[in-house]
Amino acid sequence: MSRKNGFTLIELLVVIAIIALLLTIVMPSLKIAKERAQEVLCENNLRQFGIGMTAYCNDNNGTFPDAEDWLLMNLVRNDPASPFPVSSSSLMNFDCVWHNAAIIPDGLIIRYLTDDRVRACPAFKRIALQKSNCARGLGTHNPAIPIVPQFTYSQNPFLGPLGYLRASVFARRITQVKSPSQVFAYGEENPYTLPSSNPRPLYTGFTVRVSSQTPLNDCLLYSINPAAAKATIDNAGGKYKVPPTFVDCMGSFHRAKDADGYLGYSKAVFVDGHLQNVLPEETLIYSWPF
Ligand SMILES: [Zn+2]
Ligand SMILES: [Zn+2]
Repeated sequence: MSRKNGFTLIELLVVIAIIALLLTIVMPSLKIAKERAQEVLCENNLRQFGIGMTAYCNDNNGTFPDAEDWLLMNLVRNDPASPFPVSSSSLMNFDCVWHNAAIIPDGLIIRYLTDDRVRACPAFKRIALQKSNCARGLGTHNPAIPIVPQFTYSQNPFLGPLGYLRASVFARRITQVKSPSQVFAYGEENPYTLPSSNPRPLYTGFTVRVSSQTPLNDCLLYSINPAAAKATIDNAGGKYKVPPTFVDCMGSFHRAKDADGYLGYSKAVFVDGHLQNVLPEETLIYSWPF
């Protein structure tokens, strides 16, 4: 009896089924490997920002780059001098500032960075295209500006000498920071907001209480109203018993465990140069320099 060359249909189906099974086993670990690779790139970016801040301080008598002029001069939108209005028709629209390639950074830290690529986190880029507030149709989004993230990091708002609000409680010099390993220099915000009824787990007794924009990336990480910050910290003795309502907080998009991206963390470089994962709830604890 002669046997035909080739495979029978059954044999082919079995092979296809085995390949499909192998793929389902391998795919999740590929996804984790990709996320981990993007985290490493993000960490390298933040390391450059940390080195840049140290170099800036060395060149400026120990003074920090201003938290509002570090990336773009006159970024603050309620400053009459700001060139970034909140208007859907403007190409300099504040709400689209993070993905506007036409904006050339002119801030204090720029010449201390190695190259342009360190300004954006690759994980943020991947996620922002799907579910940033602009991708979801934010009212002030200008569709003429493609969603290609340009700037995804923010400086600690309590570091820097000037600022629109000119708050005297801020740390002007690096020598004023009580514990450089406990205070972040640069961190990340989300490409989307956390809802007020967010599902984040309890952290030292509370979930993140949020106001409208938390923690949407705008390159200005005002975690809390500066005027209220000192009182909040004084009340809590450095750890809050009464949860602050965050205006901004650290992002939750790295390795989020949920589809909405609320249950992850952000990365930050600290004043002493070390890198650390930071939860949104920890923002004020690691912002406060005194
Ligand atoms: Zn936009
Ligand atoms: Zn990142």
